[in-house]
Amino acid sequence: MKLSLTTRIFLGYAVVLVTFGAVSGFSVLTLRQNQLEMRLVSEGYLELSQTVVLIENLQASQARDNARLRDEPSLETRKGLTRLARLYFPGSMATYLTKGKALAAEVVKWAPESERPFVADVSKRLTELEMRFAEYEAASDATFLLFESPTLDIERAGAALDRLQLTEKALLASIRLLHGSLESRIRDHVRLTQERERRTGVAIILLPVVAIGVGLLATGLAARSLRPVRTLIDAVSRIRRGDFAATIDAKGEDEIAVLAREFDAMAKALREREAQLQQKQQELLRAERLAAVGRVSAQVAHEIRNPLSSIGLNVEMLQDQVGSGSFTFKTADEAREATHLLASVMREVDRLTEITEDYLRLARLPTPAKRPEDLRKIVEDVLGFAKEELERAGLKIESRLGTESLPISADEGQLRQVLLNLIRNAREAMAAGGTLTVEATSKDTRLEVRVKDTGAGIPPDVREKLFEPFFTTKQGGTGLGLPLSRQIIEAHGGTISVESEVGVGTTFLLSFPRAP
Ligand code: ADP
Ligand code: MG
Repeated sequence: MKLSLTTRIFLGYAVVLVTFGAVSGFSVLTLRQNQLEMRLVSEGYLELSQTVVLIENLQASQARDNARLRDEPSLETRKGLTRLARLYFPGSMATYLTKGKALAAEVVKWAPESERPFVADVSKRLTELEMRFAEYEAASDATFLLFESPTLDIERAGAALDRLQLTEKALLASIRLLHGSLESRIRDHVRLTQERERRTGVAIILLPVVAIGVGLLATGLAARSLRPVRTLIDAVSRIRRGDFAATIDAKGEDEIAVLAREFDAMAKALREREAQLQQKQQELLRAERLAAVGRVSAQVAHEIRNPLSSIGLNVEMLQDQVGSGSFTFKTADEAREATHLLASVMREVDRLTEITEDYLRLARLPTPAKRPEDLRKIVEDVLGFAKEELERAGLKIESRLGTESLPISADEGQLRQVLLNLIRNAREAMAAGGTLTVEATSKDTRLEVRVKDTGAGIPPDVREKLFEPFFTTKQGGTGLGLPLSRQIIEAHGGTISVESEVGVGTTFLLSFPRAP
């Protein structure tokens, strides 16, 4: 189930609140129940029981007085006893019974539902007693009359008293039964209350412990949900210090996880932008350096070019004059020596001219005049052009150009220059012979050209400086071939990369966008 953070924390605290509420509710409820129970016992059953005890005592003492009538010889005393009985017993008994019934009627109003039948029963039994007492009083009256007579017929009076005493016994038994059931009811309730109090005590200790446990659990869960915030803060401060590699990699669906994922996406975007920026900066730096170098070298080349060409012309003239015998040498050897020297001066002049041409090319590299071309055909042409030179150097050529045309928008002259540079480098790397493989393929929206040699390879320290202007490991090298090539390739929206293993060979890979 996916719950938001707010919902989870809310639910946690709701559970805690409900638990505490239940604990207090339970305590209040049991407290109320016990109060009611106590009231029932103290204000209800105990008072009822006391009243019944009064009735019982009154009845018992009346029975005792009546029993005395039989053996009392004095008429006066007998009359005194009966008068007292008539005066005292009915009034007291009526008061007690009324009091008992009134009590029962009062208790039934607030007693719990379960107790009402019992109270009603008590009330019914009191009413029954009332009726039986009325009969008993009438029977007592008749018996008293017999004992008040001056001519006491002891036979008749004794028989009447016997009957009266039977009634008294039955009445007392009923009263005691009622008393007994009230007492046992009281005992039951006291036991029940004690039992409940014991249970409540345990619950009141245990339930808060449970509630506190639930509270701690909810707090723990909330803390766990908020833990990623720490990671988030750490990651943000890492980014602030410029460490864009910071990621959080959060799982889950809550707000923090979503935020963390957004953060990761932002960090990734920043990383990419930073990399792009750095690359752009480097390219700019390189182009600037190349341009500056180009300007200086162009200046130098320009200064050298004119004197160099006049040196060349003069040497040529000298060669002509030596050839046609305008000068006289002492020996033929001397003449040969002069011819030889002039030839080597001429070679150096030619080499210098070539270098100055390279320098000037670098400085004046025009923006490419692009036209729709077939890259396959350009590569094929350049290979054909270089073929003779390569074969003369004893190299094997392998061309894998296929037949498919590779459309490109390019300045053909500049691309030829690039390819010639790479082929010439390869030839120079394979002084002891080897194989040159040239491959042209199309891959998705890119066109690729590979120039591979089986030459000396490039050591790592050289590889770093490969594209720096004027970096060369060759005697008489200009160190301009690769930087120039890169400039041209990048002006065509392409890239150049190199793979090389020392002693095995080198592969230069060019990649261009395919023209639509
Ligand atoms: P140059 O050829 O004048 O030295 P380049 O810019 O063409 O200048 O090349 C720079 C350097 O790169 C070379 O001096 C050489 O050390 C290294 N290099 C270029 N191509 C190769 C290759 N195919 N095999 C080995 N080294 C190479
Ligand atoms: Mg070169």
